[in-house]
Amino acid sequence: MLPWFVRRTRLPLLSLRCVDCRSASATTGEGRFRVNANGKLLDVWLLVRCVSCDRTSKLTVHERAPVRSFDPAALDGYHANDPASVAATLLDPLLARRNRFTLDWRGAWRLDAPPARPDEAWPVQVDVVFEDPVPVRPDRLIAQGLGFSRNEVLRRIKCDISLRRPTIAGFTFVVTDS
Ligand SMILES: [Zn+2]
Repeated sequence: MLPWFVRRTRLPLLSLRCVDCRSASATTGEGRFRVNANGKLLDVWLLVRCVSCDRTSKLTVHERAPVRSFDPAALDGYHANDPASVAATLLDPLLARRNRFTLDWRGAWRLDAPPARPDEAWPVQVDVVFEDPVPVRPDRLIAQGLGFSRNEVLRRIKCDISLRRPTIAGFTFVVTDS
């Protein structure tokens, strides 16, 4: 069995309409949180800026949440603008839903697909592992990884999931030799 890995190479951009210039793209840049204490309640925002005019917007991460409800390590991450916390926050689907944006993964990920050994016996089974939640169409990923045409993918790939529907969940497929 061959393992393939889908990995991000940087943080994705956000498809988010700027209220000033109407550009539809924002970035977390280096990644910065803002934490505001109000008595025993905390607001936490992730700051993003418009890629065309630099206007900063705040995305709500936590709103009026009791201090004691926070994991201390998570709070430290917010205060330190820890890159792992920035990534985990940005990639959490809840943040996108609450703040009405989608992630733009173009140019922000890669497929690591080691070539099959020449002596590998057919059929070859490939296990696709998602290290980051990059939504990919399996047929395009497979065509890219194997250097196959669309027709070859249709003819030579056996898979239990729909090849045309984008997924962020790992899957397995089999390549037949003709
Ligand atoms: Zn703007």
